[in-house]
Amino acid sequence: MLSTMKTTMTLENHSQQAMLLEDKYGAHNYHPLPVVLEKGEGVYVWDVEGRRYFDFLSAYSALNQGHNHPKIVAALIDQVQKLSLTSRAFYNDQLGVYEEFITRYFGYDKVLPMNTGAEGVETAIKLCRRWAYEKKGVAENQAKIIVCEGNFHGRTIAAISASNDPDSFGNFGPFTPGFVKIPYNDVQALANALKDPTVAGFLVEPIQGEAGIVVPDQGYLKSCYELCKSHRVLFINDEIQTGLCRTGKVLACDHEQVRGDILILGKALSGGLLPISAVLADDEIMLCIRPGQHGSTYGGNPLAARVAIAALEVLRDEDLAQKSAHLGARLIQDLSAIDHPMIRQVRGKGLFCAMVISPKDGKTAWDVCLALKENGLLAKPTHGDIIRFAPPLIITEDQLMECVEIIRKTLSKF
Ligand code: PLP
Repeated sequence: MLSTMKTTMTLENHSQQAMLLEDKYGAHNYHPLPVVLEKGEGVYVWDVEGRRYFDFLSAYSALNQGHNHPKIVAALIDQVQKLSLTSRAFYNDQLGVYEEFITRYFGYDKVLPMNTGAEGVETAIKLCRRWAYEKKGVAENQAKIIVCEGNFHGRTIAAISASNDPDSFGNFGPFTPGFVKIPYNDVQALANALKDPTVAGFLVEPIQGEAGIVVPDQGYLKSCYELCKSHRVLFINDEIQTGLCRTGKVLACDHEQVRGDILILGKALSGGLLPISAVLADDEIMLCIRPGQHGSTYGGNPLAARVAIAALEVLRDEDLAQKSAHLGARLIQDLSAIDHPMIRQVRGKGLFCAMVISPKDGKTAWDVCLALKENGLLAKPTHGDIIRFAPPLIITEDQLMECVEIIRKTLSKF
């Protein structure tokens, strides 16, 4: 008994120690839930004390294929033993294969490979501006890009210049000019903003993820796309979080049969193994950037190329779009059926779901997430009162029902 207690205490210390180290030596740019993870497989993660949890965040939808998907891991191991990085100073035998694969997969002429999502967004902004000067005839340095209030396009200076969230942009100025902010889900606001002939692009998330899974009205994306077309403005579709089967279609814009002029992907493009992002467009746009004018040391490396093909194959072969649509409808229905005063709203599309929480007796969404953790489910609040539920898409119906039960039981204690 004594020895068991001693082991447990040492392990608890292990967890404390890991948190203390991060706190002492790491920048305080995140506020993690107090759980220290050391292993992941499929829909599960384990902490250093050996406790198992359902991962209901999926690393902000980077793990749509689940943790350590065997096919993606196999591709990574095979390639890493041969060649992982050449830089783009030389050709490699994997990049072209990947470029053909991904452009056919999404139906675009060309792809520009990058690493993080924010770099993908930067690339799209640069491409759009280039196109405006070289094809649309906008006067030098006058190009504008329309963005939506509540957006999240990353943490670079350009992305935060496009943000209206003080947490994102506060005290980081001066900012990049050239962004016009309009309300989200407001077609008329876009129509008004498009009257300016220097507008080059409309950068939009088909569902706003970080804002708390804000789903626009049916028809919004289609109307915006048509307005962009009639004003010769590029529709830039940021599917870094919503894409790759998360919302029940391969792309969230597929729900309205909208094909953006520029498509940005990231996160699940590697199934969680590497930072891989991609910008897709047709030749008229993509060929505006010529050798030496944009790039990245790691972008398009052979390891990423192999991993991204495997990640995309898993999405297709396991029909994860259909699974997300089916299970997502079930999740939203079952969560909506929970009768609890703290639940203000349940919303979402596919397995991209949010529960808006009303505080009760001083308890907030953060407290609910702490209690969910104690009951074996990891989720994280966004904007204080919204809990995102976005499990890996490989979750089974039985596992999902187990999770709904955990959520129901947890809330019943509040
Ligand atoms: N765009 C969207 C819609 C996102 O959700 C995110 C990240 O959450 C990004 C861009 C930035 O991606 P990254 O964190 O990989 O730079």
